Formats: sequence, C-alpha cells, structure tokens
Amino acid sequence: MAPDTITTGPLSLEDYRLAFRARLRLQRGRLEELRSVTPSDHEETLALGLELTQLMWREGWKRHGWPEDVGGLGGGLRHRAVYYDELCNAGLFVPESDNGLETLAPALLRFAPELARELLPPLLSGQEAWGQCFSEPDAGSDLAGLRTRAVAAGDGYAVSGQKTWTSNGHLSARLFTLARTGARDSRRHGISALLIDSDSPGISRRALTFASGEPELCEVFFDDVRVPRSRLIGEENGGWDVSSYLLQFERSMYAAQRQAWLFSTLRALAADVAALDQADACAAEVVGKAWTAVASLRARTITTVRRLDAGEAVGPEASADKLLLGVAEQAVFDAARQLLGAAFLFDDDSAGWRSKWWYSRAATVYGGAAEVQRTILADRVLGLPPEVGRSGKRA
Ligand SMILES: Cc1cc2nc3c(=O)[nH]c(=O)nc-3n(C[C@H](O)[C@H](O)[C@H](O)COP(=O)(O)OP(=O)(O)OC[C@H]3O[C@@H](n4cnc5c(N)ncnc54)[C@H](O)[C@@H]3O)c2cc1C
Repeated sequence: MAPDTITTGPLSLEDYRLAFRARLRLQRGRLEELRSVTPSDHEETLALGLELTQLMWREGWKRHGWPEDVGGLGGGLRHRAVYYDELCNAGLFVPESDNGLETLAPALLRFAPELARELLPPLLSGQEAWGQCFSEPDAGSDLAGLRTRAVAAGDGYAVSGQKTWTSNGHLSARLFTLARTGARDSRRHGISALLIDSDSPGISRRALTFASGEPELCEVFFDDVRVPRSRLIGEENGGWDVSSYLLQFERSMYAAQRQAWLFSTLRALAADVAALDQADACAAEVVGKAWTAVASLRARTITTVRRLDAGEAVGPEASADKLLLGVAEQAVFDAARQLLGAAFLFDDDSAGWRSKWWYSRAATVYGGAAEVQRTILADRVLGLPPEVGRSGKRA
C-alpha cells in the first residue's frame, strides 16, 4: 500500500510511479469528488485544479521534480511527466495552473533563482496561478515586434502597454511579462522579462470569451505600472534569451501534459461511443487513428522530456512537439465529433465534447502558430534552403 505522505525524497522514478499510482487508486473523500465533479465554469475549473495541487503538495507527490530550495523534494522533469501521466490515468486531470507552472517556472529558476526561492512556492503548491503576458494585438507570431514599454522609474520600471490572449491572466496572481526596455526598433535585442504582481496599481484585465463560451483568456492593460528592479528576470534587454529558454518548456512540457490528458480523453470517448451503441468497425478505425496521433506525440515528448531533464538545450526542436500536439488534439476531438453524431451536436454538453472540440481548434495557434513552427523546423533544424517567392526574393 502507498504511504499517504512522502516527506523525503526523491523516490526513484519507478518507485515514484508505482507509489503514486497506488495512492491514486485509493480514491476516497475529496480526491474521489475531484475526479467526478463537473466544473460549472472556467473559474471553477481553475479552482478545482488548485485544490488538487494543494492536496498533492501536502502529501508530497507534487514536490517531486522540483528543487529543495523552492520546497520540492528533488528529482527532475521526468518525475513531473510521471505525475501528469498518473493523474490522468487515474481519471483525474492536469490542473490549469500547472500549464503556466511548467512554462514559466523553469525560466524563473534558471534566470532569477532568488526570485524563484521567494515566489515559486505559492505557485508550486497550488496557492496561486500565474499568467504569461507575451502576445500583443500586433505581436503574436512576430513577438520581437512587441510594443509594451518598460522605462526606468525610481528603483525599477514604469510599464505601459497592452497584452492579449493571456491564458488565465484575469485569475492570476502574477504576470510573467515581456516589455521593451530598448529603443523602439531594437527588436529582440531590447526586450526584458519582468514578473509583475497583477494587483499592482495601473493594471486592468478584461476576460476574453472563447468560441466555446469559456472565458479562459484575457487582455491586460498596463498604465504606468511600477515594477521594482528586483522583479527583472535575467538581464535588462536579455528577455529574448529568457523567452527562448522558456518556449522550449512551453512547447514540450505542455505537450507532455496534454498527451496524458488526450489518452484519458480517448478512453472516455470510446466508452461514450460504446454507450451510444455505435461501436462498429468504422468507429474502431477513427479511434485508432486518433490513438496513433496521440501515441506519436507521446513518443516525441518522452524523448524531449528526457533531453531537457538531462540539461540539454532542445531549442527549436521543441517546435516538433508543438506541431504533433496540434495534430493529436484535433484528431481526438474530430473523432468525437464524427462518432458522437447528434449527441455531439445537440446534447447539453455536460461531458464537454463540444467545448473541448472548439478549444482543440486553437491547438495549432497557441504556443506559436503551426505555420511558424514549420518554418522554424525548416530553417533552424533541417537547414532547408529558404523559400523563394515569385519575385525571386525570400518569402
Ligand atoms: C487558446 C490560446 C491561448 C493563448 N495563451 C497565451 C498566453 O497565455 N500568453 C501569450 O502571450 N499568448 C497566448 N496566446 C497567443 C498565441 O501565442 C498567439 O495567438 C500565436 O503566437 C499567434 O499569434 P497571433 O494570434 O498574433 O497571430 P498572427 O501572428 O497574427 O498570425 C495569424 C496567422 O498568420 C499566419 N502567420 C503569421 N506569421 C507567419 C509567418 N511568419 N509564416 C507563416 N504564417 C504566418 C499563421 O497562420 C497565424 O496563425 C494564446 C492563444 C490562444 C489561441
């Protein structure tokens, strides 16, 4: 039987997997409720995830994979990947706040270890969620063109500008923000990364509702927001290095979390289809194709997680994980649309198939558009000759 709490560690990877699996099998009390509850809106989804994280943190499972000086028990990314796998295998879910955690925390640990010691524990332990303020209305794919400015003011900066598409930004305690500290035309050489408290005077946030009806995203407006210099992550004008490092994790650890969830989603789909009595050979083929897409994603993310865990720079190669994620996520929810038929279109959507289908359309956009990922792979990984337009110039 698994111990209820793990206070020393880290356990070896295999011991951790088996002990955590055994613990999750004992689903009683609040854990059992968390598995079966259907959140009524996005805010509740986030809150339930935070509650699950708090529980897993208290018991020590969530502490695996994180350094001791931020409250962890040691271990590495592979422990974290096992954690998400096992949660989903047990019919639970990946908490929303863990998407931001896996994207932002590695960069904070690397570029601002003191800040990490001070501020990471509440994020890790599920006390708060954080948002990532990179994209702007005119700077998404072209991130180097961002215009939010941070000018010197007292012992720090005054930040003004607008961000958009910030996942959970309106529900987040802190905003990991890229702002221009260099000249207007300094592109990637004049950007700095700042960790800004979202209750700072001058910040306003407006929720953006997704096509599914879920207000998951927001716009953030900064109006002369004062940020102490101690909140600078990395060097002034060194934000591009911070974001490049961070994007490796955003594009691969998020994919690792998502594949775990997609496998459990496919199992749920197979059960729903069987209940509709539509489980014919065609259904098996559709589910099989989606399964192959998710298995390809899993194979890729295992390799990437191992490499990041070993301290290797994955860099632009993480774009392959992001591309495979888009393919897999859309395959799973296209399978749901095809197989659930009228139930998909007209049910009250209590199982969330329709709203998740809508979200899956964004899987080829968030974290960097698929077209841009393909260009990164062509140029920087495969070294293909540049595309030449009809004019004879590079497209
Ligand atoms: C659900 C969701 C969550 C998100 N969460 C966050 C978040 O938390 N934080 C954050 O900062 N951002 C977030 N984003 C924003 C996301 O990173 C951007 O949407 C993405 O980078 C694309 O930028 P854009 O929307 O400005 O599109 P644009 O850059 O305007 O691109 C539009 C389309 O044009 C094409 N295109 C653009 N440039 C090129 C090119 N060079 N080559 C070929 N085709 C090109 C692509 O098809 C692209 O989809 C999120 C987006 C979504 C949909």
